[in-house]
Amino acid sequence: MSSNTLDTTDDTAIETEKAGISLTNLQKSYGDVLAVDGLSLDIEPGEFLVLLGPSGCGKSTTLRMIAGLETPTGGRIGIGDDEVTRMLPQKRGLSMVFQSYALYPHKTVGENLEFPLRKMDLSDEEVESKVERTARLLEIQDLLDKKPGQLSGGQRQRVAVGRTIIREPRAFLMDEPLSNLDAQLRVKTRFEIRELQQELGTTTVYVTHDQEEAMSVADRIAVMNDGELQQVGTPEEIYKEPTNEFVAGFIGNPPMNFFDASTDEHVQQLLGGGSSPADSLLPSETATLGVRPEDVHLHETTTADVANVSRPSDSALTDPITCDVTVIEPLGNAYELELTRDGETFIARVRALPQTVSAGETVEVAFDETELHAFDARGEAIR
Ligand code: ADP
Ligand code: MG
Repeated sequence: MSSNTLDTTDDTAIETEKAGISLTNLQKSYGDVLAVDGLSLDIEPGEFLVLLGPSGCGKSTTLRMIAGLETPTGGRIGIGDDEVTRMLPQKRGLSMVFQSYALYPHKTVGENLEFPLRKMDLSDEEVESKVERTARLLEIQDLLDKKPGQLSGGQRQRVAVGRTIIREPRAFLMDEPLSNLDAQLRVKTRFEIRELQQELGTTTVYVTHDQEEAMSVADRIAVMNDGELQQVGTPEEIYKEPTNEFVAGFIGNPPMNFFDASTDEHVQQLLGGGSSPADSLLPSETATLGVRPEDVHLHETTTADVANVSRPSDSALTDPITCDVTVIEPLGNAYELELTRDGETFIARVRALPQTVSAGETVEVAFDETELHAFDARGEAIR
């Protein structure tokens, strides 16, 4: 089948209720490669869960095991009240969209949409009404008589999504569904997918390596690395309270700054006495200090001439440190400054920039004390 849409729903498995998906100690090895290493995760009914991680971390393998396209080498998969670990894909009542969105080229859009309904025992009226409803939902009513070759990339993607939802599966599985679209269309389409999912209320597992995409669509994000689940939480939890250095560095653009904090002397230099002594700001086992670019603030000494500089009161800032400004990048609504100090380079993101700050000059900056992240030698968050 040249289609990208796997119809893992058959007429006996059709259920329109929201089903949760539970993964218990799920494992998949290919010879020596442990692609998925003991993954346990409960996906709530109706939830939009994003599996996020770098290329090769095991996202697609996980999704393919949920779909039934790969057999786990260990663990268990449940959908709703059923254990499905070894159940045939077409019995699972799921629907999957892949990266490439090949449609049947000789069929019209309407026929492409209708195709997944063929194996179901439906009257012509029922088929027609489902096609009509799906087309309306995706705003492709005007395209029903066209062939895929006459459509833009974005329109073809909608038709592919339409084919996924038309059978009203128990859950949608999507593997990087937007990666073939250009940047602008990707942003637009991801909002549409999110909107559609909210409207339908169907449990969705969505795979991406793009943290920004994950943050913008997910109810919760499950961050994976090297076959292992690192953290699962709402976008805000993952951003604000990363459980380890990997998650902290993977989420956020520009990424979190990391500083060596293994010696008291260096910590003292970075954080100074401040309102609180440096050793009260960081636990003693701290090996690495993490500070997000937006939590690096220009100190009052350099912002006196700028109105509306939003930064915490000085009582919430560490002592100012002097750095060299190496690069200034204007972003329209903010500036990114690349700063160096004693050979350490880091990024500050500020709303407004005083005239006095320019590349090649020095500047005084301070960190927001309440937003410091501390990691131990194993990279685990301890503050
Ligand atoms: P992701 O989707 O996160 O990029 P994958 O799940 O595709 O990652 O792959 C995870 C790991 O498993 C990778 O190291 C990959 O090379 C390996 N892998 C995936 N599928 C196979 C396969 N069919 N045979 C051998 N190794 C595989
Ligand atoms: Mg993949």
